[in-house]
Amino acid sequence: MDEQEVRKLLSSIPDPRLGNDIVSLGLVNSISIEESKIKISLFLGAPYSSEEQSIAQQIRALFSDSEFHIDISARAKKNVSPEDDLLPTVKNVIAVASGKGGVGKSTVSVNLATELSRLGARVGLFDADVYGPNAPRMIGHSGQPLETKDGKIQPPEQFGVKFISLGLLVGENDPVIWRGPMVHKIISQLLSDVNWGSLDYLIIDLPPGTGDAQLTLLQIVSVTGAVIVTTPQSVVLDDAEKSLKMFDRHGTPTLGLIENMSGFTCPSCGSTHDLFGKGTSEDFANKLELPFLGRISIDPLVRKGSDEGFPAVLNPDSTAQGDFQIVCQNTINNVGALIRKLHSDNYAD
Ligand code: ADP
Repeated sequence: MDEQEVRKLLSSIPDPRLGNDIVSLGLVNSISIEESKIKISLFLGAPYSSEEQSIAQQIRALFSDSEFHIDISARAKKNVSPEDDLLPTVKNVIAVASGKGGVGKSTVSVNLATELSRLGARVGLFDADVYGPNAPRMIGHSGQPLETKDGKIQPPEQFGVKFISLGLLVGENDPVIWRGPMVHKIISQLLSDVNWGSLDYLIIDLPPGTGDAQLTLLQIVSVTGAVIVTTPQSVVLDDAEKSLKMFDRHGTPTLGLIENMSGFTCPSCGSTHDLFGKGTSEDFANKLELPFLGRISIDPLVRKGSDEGFPAVLNPDSTAQGDFQIVCQNTINNVGALIRKLHSDNYAD
């Protein structure tokens, strides 16, 4: 088989989102054939996403009788040269935001990171919630980070997630009053001083609202995309709209909206009660032409898991386990679609 034939075969594979085949979209980076070994390098962006895994599977099926190797080599970050990139070894940065506190933003961040790690991805979690840094409790690890030989911070690891939180440095329950410039300084220092190593995904748990910490992050880090966590109450949705506008102003794509605390299935009677309303977040997402990433039900095991440091996404008894898994796949499938689109637009120019 020569390169031409390989390319022709690859052009039978459609991109699941972009309405064309992977060759026409410029997603095939290179093909090399040495002896009988075919090497294909693709521009894909979201490791462990079901849609990109399906592309890889279809390629494997085409070449099932030859020895071959797929290599993924997309560079996702837009508008940042490798020299200016504060996080050069991190492929994708996902910011988790909410307009208001208490909607489950940190819970979603921790469960997303844990699920990505369970899938096999290299994951980091940066708890930038300077006003309530509770990731250490939620992920069940409060050991001090160590210092590396070159003076960097080695993040502790739990459930395969490397994480860093102000809560590890100042204590979760110490009241901390941060003024704007301090927030800017601590966040930029923490982010760049941490020895993240190579990561597929870095999840950033933002503080609620649209204040200094969020702006700092958007200025210094190239965020691949943001997800916004809401509950079905309309007052929370109004606040979510403010976050959305903030991301828009900074040119950060929004990957979609997650509705948390979305109905409670009573363990005694088995029926579902919509404690905070129903369907509002999806309508809101549609109105703003935003992807809706899914609903996470209210489950006491989610709260218990957060308090005891065992994320519900690892707990088969939790009714929210599957919800978190779906939301995670929808999120990273959107990351992949976004990056492939960026790449194919550049290819077309
Ligand atoms: P935020 O980061 O938005 O302030 P948290 O993630 O700290 O919110 O969640 C607030 C509280 O709600 C926590 O006690 C958490 O365990 C609980 N919680 C969050 N999501 C759920 C859910 N789906 N079911 C039950 N409890 C939840």
